[in-house]
Amino acid sequence: MIPFNKPHLTGKETEYVNDAINSGKIAGDGKYTKACEAFFEKRYGFAKTYLTTSCTHAIELAALLIDIKTGDEVIIPSYTFVSSANPFILRGAKVVFVDSSAKSPSMDVDLVESLITPFTKAILAVHYGGIPCDIKKLRTIADKHNLFLIVDAAQTLDSYYHDKPVGSFGHLSAFSFHETKNITCGEGGLLVINDERFIERAEILREKGTNRSSFIRGKVSRYNWVDAGSSYIPSDILAAYLLAQLECIDEIQQRRLAIWKKYYLLLNTLQTQKKIKLPYLPEGIKHNAHTFYFICDSLQIRQNFITFMSQNGVQVQFHYMCLHNSPFYKDQHGDRELPMADHYQNCLVRLPLFYDMTEDDVETVTKLTLRFFNTPKT
Ligand SMILES: *Cc1c(COP(=O)(O)O)cnc(C)c1O
Repeated sequence: MIPFNKPHLTGKETEYVNDAINSGKIAGDGKYTKACEAFFEKRYGFAKTYLTTSCTHAIELAALLIDIKTGDEVIIPSYTFVSSANPFILRGAKVVFVDSSAKSPSMDVDLVESLITPFTKAILAVHYGGIPCDIKKLRTIADKHNLFLIVDAAQTLDSYYHDKPVGSFGHLSAFSFHETKNITCGEGGLLVINDERFIERAEILREKGTNRSSFIRGKVSRYNWVDAGSSYIPSDILAAYLLAQLECIDEIQQRRLAIWKKYYLLLNTLQTQKKIKLPYLPEGIKHNAHTFYFICDSLQIRQNFITFMSQNGVQVQFHYMCLHNSPFYKDQHGDRELPMADHYQNCLVRLPLFYDMTEDDVETVTKLTLRFFNTPKT
């Protein structure tokens, strides 16, 4: 059986985790947390980063930082994970869904301006599969209308838009280290702050609304409750695991990209024959091989393909159920149609992609895929 995903171990995780445990400092913000944050700030040039318990929590922190409240509207794609929406809903805001683009499952940036109202406070961007959307244009739109740009970069660590890391375009950005991502610690996230006015308050909100961090640095003589915050700091044990992964990021990325490129090359004939559509790569981007997906012509073909692959020992997966059709939000969304988002919900499929896949595995998956699409349908 070739599974859809298998978390990779670099080999140093146990050593660092044991070291964290033996240090006796197992709460958050210990030496491993600091080392991870320093890694991100140095490698990507982010002004400030804070490790969080998840990407969802990093987006929640972002929602708190920009003071999202009842009556506000946030423009987000419908074809995304619930974590792009929940943080704003929890603060009483309304999410306004934008359709995916015809070229890619990411949001159609050209539709965003038509959805801006006097109540719009922010735009949240997602880069599907780690392939950057036109984030520069989104930032221009946000600036023109005086809106915040939040980047749900959960899948986009080490992706670049015209040589700039994708996480650097938002006022605030969020990464995920969930088991399913390229770099993982099981559950974890990162808040990236590019707008310096948020740095101090983020530290307070993340630490239950207290100025405990200032106290630890010796800046204040006791610490107090100074704002409405929550508990978003992961244990240093998780940060230790994460650091072991980060130290191997180039090796991990190289392997994932090699698998991705091999899939693309070997399946390209199916695209030429118009049997499937492979991922669209905009000019000037560098993606991170988070996902290898393609688009089938119909829901029926995709279902048959998933069944065929499963019968042959390969686990392939469809992806998001659109949020605008969700049981939770469809009444509030109303009947504005988002045909492209529906299309990706029905026709997109993802192939296995993980560091420890062998060349044989990749060939098995492509051969079966070619066989399925090249077999005449009766
Ligand atoms: C994985 C993912 C998340 C959630 O990340 P967590 O760290 O599990 O909270 C949010 N948004 C997108 C687009 C994701 O892919």
